[in-house]
Parts: sequence; structure tokens; C-alpha cells
Amino acid sequence: MKYVDEYRDAALVWKLSTAIARATTRPWTIMEICGGQTHAIVKFGLDELLPKKITLVHGPGCPVCVTSADLIDQAVALALEQKVILCSFGDMLRVPGSGIDLLTAKARGGDVRIVYSPLDAVGIAQANPGREVVFFAVGFETTAPANAMSVLQAEREQVPNFSLLTSHVLVPPAMRAILGSPDNRVQGFLAAGHVCTIMGTQEYGPIAREYGAPIIITGFEPVDILEGILLCVRQLETGRCEVENAYARAVKAEGNVHARRIVEQVFSVCDRDWRGLGVIPQSGLGVRPAYAAYDATCRFPLKATGLPCATGCISGEIMRGVKKPHDCPAFGTRCNPEHPLGAPMVSSEGACAAYHRYRGRTLEPAVAG
Ligand code: SF4
Repeated sequence: MKYVDEYRDAALVWKLSTAIARATTRPWTIMEICGGQTHAIVKFGLDELLPKKITLVHGPGCPVCVTSADLIDQAVALALEQKVILCSFGDMLRVPGSGIDLLTAKARGGDVRIVYSPLDAVGIAQANPGREVVFFAVGFETTAPANAMSVLQAEREQVPNFSLLTSHVLVPPAMRAILGSPDNRVQGFLAAGHVCTIMGTQEYGPIAREYGAPIIITGFEPVDILEGILLCVRQLETGRCEVENAYARAVKAEGNVHARRIVEQVFSVCDRDWRGLGVIPQSGLGVRPAYAAYDATCRFPLKATGLPCATGCISGEIMRGVKKPHDCPAFGTRCNPEHPLGAPMVSSEGACAAYHRYRGRTLEPAVAG
């Protein structure tokens, strides 16, 4: 398949891993931001092809993983107390809030429906004019354009019973939070290529310079990821801290200007509480006051409980690169895909789910720290 097979070419993978080994003289810790990249690394065993001096740690780029327990609680309250039709991507249903998850809310009579697009939720609102329909809009910059479009479509087609419960988060502020934390050990980043497809690369230069960390815009196939690591190692070894685009087949410096314009029209930047990481200033997107009619937090009397998910989950430390899934005492025992204690074991992009799926519960550390 074009754009897949050539990026899984075994000879090229071998060549790149050899080049990385030759380029590496000192220990380096590199974080891949995106959960999709984490899954590719673990699935294809890319970390095992690297020299022991290189440690890959897994970042917060899994939207399900970083959605706060508080917002899950609000989604549950919408379904059970406000009696709305709560539409969500399927991944969110088993993520624990401070109390129950959305699947349990559904079992208790809540009208919780899985959709594959926010526009499906607009369609459900049109088909049910006597009901309120809320779409649980989670995600990074990649999903924001489609969610913004759903608001514009609802406005254009005069659908008054549709609104969003937003949990949008932004990558650059999270990178700053990780690099600025006292226990940070991340020295370079593989930035998420699909986020940059929308947003471009211009936000990353100031971060690279301020924190002295190279940032490589990276894709999702084995050749993409190894190329990103090679460029990152070369920068680290030579003391450079620049932004390089290793995903030029999809990413332009300016991003997708049309998509950005739609996002800016509907959303504005706000503070956001990240599960496991806490409140990061100016790290989220909320519905602009001009579109308050489509903002569930304005339409319904929702209370922020501020309660955490009390399971002992160490996902925050994993997403800051301080620990790995197998460092969690609950991994594979009390926490598994059938009975997840934390979001990274639920989500198809979660680091714990990746380790459990591809390496099993008896995992030994794959990469020396
Ligand atoms: S194994 Fe489960 S409890 Fe431990 S960090 Fe991962 S999701 Fe959280």
C-alpha cells in the first residue's frame, strides 16, 4: 500500500537503526508525544533496535488519557441528570471518572451513544428535535477542526438542540510543562506529525530554543519514527536544538490554514486540567462566547467536582516520561484491559494498553534508563 509499505521497509529500518547506533555516543532520553507513535514503537519493537544509551519515554499525546475525571463526571451528569443524548467516541466510555464511567451511566439508563464523527451527533440532534444532544469533544489540535465544523454546521442548519462538552488540549503548552518540571529528564521530542499537519511548525521553535531541546516533527510508521530519532540524536550529539520536519510529505510550516481559521473562529484558548498532569495554563480550547449556545457548560447547570480518579494510577508520571507502564505496580494485575484502573489502559492510544497488548504483563524493561 502506497505511503505505508515503503515506510515499513525492513532494509531501510535496519539502515536507520545502524545509523542511530553510529551517531550515539552518550545517553539520551527522547519523548515521542503521540500515543499513535507509542503504539508503533511498541508494536514494531523499534525501541529494541536502538542502542542501550537511548531511552524512549512516552508522552501525553493520547486525548482519552488526558481528559480529566472532572469532565467525565460532567459527561455522566449530562447523561443521567440532564437526560441528554450524550454522544462520544467509543474510547471514552470506559475511562473512569471520580465515580462511574460512561458505560456504567449507560447501563443505569443514560442515553449514551457511540458516534464516529461530531457531524453524526449533529444528525442525531436533527433526528431528535425534542431532545438535547451533547457531543463529548475530546482531542488535540487534530480533532478541533471537525468539532468546530460541527458547531458551524449546527448553526447553518439551525439545530438548536446540539452542543459540545469540550475537552480539547494543545500540545505545545504540555511540552513546556514537561520540560519545565523539576524532575524532567526529556532531552528531545518527536512531535506529533498529524498535529503539525493542522497547526504547522511555527510554535515549536521558541520551545526548542528556550529549553535547549531538539524537536523533530515525526510521522507514525517505523521508518518515520527511526528517522525522527536519528535527526534528534544528531542534534543532541552536536549540541543543537532546532525544529526539523521529518514528515514533510504531510506537514507544511504554516499547517492547514483553512482548518486553523475554522478552529480560531469557534474556539479560544483557555486553561485546561489534564488528567495526571494537573492544570496547565493556556493549554486547552473552549467554545467562544459568540457560540455559547453550542457550549454545554453554558446550556446546562454543570458543576466542576474537582475530584480526581482515586485509583492509584501513575499515568501522570508515565506521560511526563518519569516512569514507564511496567513501573506501575498495578500493570497487568489489578489493571488490565478488561478491568482498567486508568485511562492509558483503556485508550487505543494509551501507553499501558500498548505495552499490555504487545508485550504482556511479564514485561521486563525494554530500554535501559
Ligand atoms: S497500568 Fe493502569 S493504573 Fe498503572 S499507570 Fe497504567 S493505566 Fe494507570
